[in-house]
Amino acid sequence: MKLFAPAYYQKFACIADRCQHTCCVGWEIDIDNDTMQKYAACHDNYGKRIQVSIDEVDTPHFRLDVNERCPHLDDRGLCKIILNLGEDYLCEICREHPRFYHDTPYGREVGIGMACEEAARLILSSDDYQSIVAIDEIDGDAEVADFDPLPYRAHIYALLSDASRPYSERLHSLYDTYGISPTIHSDEEWRKTFASLEYLDDSHRAMFSSYTSTLSAPIESAQTLERALAYFIFRHCSDVCDKEDFLAALGFCLLCERLLATLASVYGTENIITVARIVSEELEYSEDNTEAIKWEFYP
Ligand code: SF4
Repeated sequence: MKLFAPAYYQKFACIADRCQHTCCVGWEIDIDNDTMQKYAACHDNYGKRIQVSIDEVDTPHFRLDVNERCPHLDDRGLCKIILNLGEDYLCEICREHPRFYHDTPYGREVGIGMACEEAARLILSSDDYQSIVAIDEIDGDAEVADFDPLPYRAHIYALLSDASRPYSERLHSLYDTYGISPTIHSDEEWRKTFASLEYLDDSHRAMFSSYTSTLSAPIESAQTLERALAYFIFRHCSDVCDKEDFLAALGFCLLCERLLATLASVYGTENIITVARIVSEELEYSEDNTEAIKWEFYP
């Protein structure tokens, strides 16, 4: 089957030691079975250091150090597994991050997640989100439900990219067309929901408490908000089982966009990539948080 990706995908490369928010800090990295077998068969010095760094309770994973860093991250921010053994020895999560995949009736799609700072920079600086291109031919068959969300996605993208209308007008026409909007709850109710979520960094709870659906974001952030919303829709509305699920996912995306608009107003447009990365890591990289918010949009 074909593998599709947004056009900007092929420009992605990890910036490694230049990354300010490396994914090798704060996340528990699970190790897949194939890689566990490779590590077990690796008897050189570094292989032994890998073996003692693994916690095998429940799903095997690397034991983070006292500063919550991956034990294989060196002082320069480089991966010692790559330096000592080569990229072939990375576990699947490290090899794939920040990529995500979903199946559609036309093949598989791959994207890059905005919690990665280089991915966020690329997503929010690329104007070609509508361009989803075939990048490879891969083995296997797509596993899909009967419902096909892609015509809806194409319709939303056409609406969203209509530069003849101001961004706020396009957004409201999207709310009206699909009958879904963050205003199903008051700002106060959403602030309570945000306060009840789990956070990787607890200071973000206070940050999200400024949420409002009505604050108008600086006009110069409109294009960035449009690209962020297109990304959220690519990620969350393309892999749904039915129309209800599609609408709940769309509601989640629209709420993320309004939260980002609030944070762009509060922290300034110059910080929008940073706050977009934070919204992504706290909301869409936590399955529990994503589900808790989507739940609010089910009829
Ligand atoms: S967050 Fe992105 S750019 Fe940074 S180390 Fe991870 S993959 Fe590389």
